[in-house]
Amino acid sequence: MDGTVHIIGAGLAGLSAALSLSERGQAVIVHEATTFAGGRCRSYHDASVGMTIDNGNHLLLSGNRAALDFLRRIGADHWLVGPDGAEFSFVDLASGERWILHFNDGPLPFWIFDRSRRVPGTRPLDYLPLARLLWPPAGKAVGEVIDCKGPLYQRLVEPLLVGALNIDPPLGSARLAAAIVRETLAVGGRACRPLIAREGLGPTLVEPALVRLQELGATVRMEHQLRAMRLAAGRIEALEFADGLIELGDDDAVILAVPPYIAVSVLPGIEVPTEFRAIVNAHFRIEPPADAPAILGVLNATVQWIFAFPGRVSVTISAGDRLIDTPREQLAKTIWDEVARVTGLPAILPPWQIVRERRATFAATPEQDAKRPGPATQWRNLVLAGDWTDTGLPATIEGAIRSGNRAADIVAKLP
Ligand SMILES: Cc1cc2nc3c(=O)[nH]c(=O)nc-3n(C[C@H](O)[C@H](O)[C@H](O)COP(=O)(O)OP(=O)(O)OC[C@H]3O[C@@H](n4cnc5c(N)ncnc54)[C@H](O)[C@@H]3O)c2cc1C
Repeated sequence: MDGTVHIIGAGLAGLSAALSLSERGQAVIVHEATTFAGGRCRSYHDASVGMTIDNGNHLLLSGNRAALDFLRRIGADHWLVGPDGAEFSFVDLASGERWILHFNDGPLPFWIFDRSRRVPGTRPLDYLPLARLLWPPAGKAVGEVIDCKGPLYQRLVEPLLVGALNIDPPLGSARLAAAIVRETLAVGGRACRPLIAREGLGPTLVEPALVRLQELGATVRMEHQLRAMRLAAGRIEALEFADGLIELGDDDAVILAVPPYIAVSVLPGIEVPTEFRAIVNAHFRIEPPADAPAILGVLNATVQWIFAFPGRVSVTISAGDRLIDTPREQLAKTIWDEVARVTGLPAILPPWQIVRERRATFAATPEQDAKRPGPATQWRNLVLAGDWTDTGLPATIEGAIRSGNRAADIVAKLP
């Protein structure tokens, strides 16, 4: 392709598309509506806690091959940290029990046969029905494929799936749950190591990408919001911004990497997911205990995961829609009360911030999953990207990056 590729949106989908194309020597201009890149995966300075925090804690797994490859290509893979093995610490707030789930590296799940490594209260045979999640029938919800009760469900499947799908798991798409299980648990511990951007999402995933794009000659225009597209039969003719129109030549192409509710506003008539789920994050300015695991799963609580960062303790609650209208002060107190009980930190509330992302991800139900379009459109010079396009994965960093790479591959092959 000889022309210029205009990429709309500098989230991870847009950035990965830009990187893939720039690496091939393609002329690229990224247009981002806001003042910052990263979209739903960003760091910002927060006055309440007086430090730079992430909009939400993001967990990657060592099996997220596209995300890790992206990090290597922008020279930032060393910023991701995690334990040497696939270890997950848990505490049950109701019973006070604590345990570490420890997957072995290979695909044969020896950990299931080792009482000290498997989920407490489970027996090896309990794990057999999980095989039904590997290749479920089309269009089914998780609750139609496996039994969503019992210790194995409550202590492994629910925390894994609520985090990965961002929905109450029985309602979640079995197809998307299967993709997660096949790419992580079924591969073994080497695909399940938890990885965290300890220095923040911005310094790890976003700023190095912007630096690399600049080195490769790509242009990134901030505060450059796409308002409309002039559509002709078979192609996009022009892009409309507040400061004017960009007419597209025959060799130019567009990758639309915006959220679905924006995509549908500039492309009326396309089918996109229309329902969303929230993620709630609470950040507390306090030094975590020296022996705190980097990430701790909490059961029978409002809190789901506690992350320990230098000088900060952060909490993630996925499928957090029920907490969207809870007064902020009350929510901070409820969450901190649980964190203090679990960690032994003082009960007095430290400086805090609550970040509620209402439309954190599309609702990963079978019905919404079926609405996800593929990357190709009826306009030959327009390709879609974003975690909500049909990647076969839930809305995750890995899905967003794969969608960006896929869009770049399609555009690179345009005549
Ligand atoms: C709180 C939270 C926690 C999460 N936790 C995890 C996790 O632990 N692990 C994980 O893998 N994933 C997690 N995710 C999901 C992950 O953040 C997303 O899947 C990913 O960032 C989506 O990237 P994207 O590029 O598809 O979309 P977005 O990040 O939404 O990017 C779209 C971009 O388009 C821009 N834009 C919109 N309209 C216009 C316009 N008209 N013109 C120009 N630009 C426009 C936006 O400003 C934005 O920058 C989490 C998400 C949230 C919100």
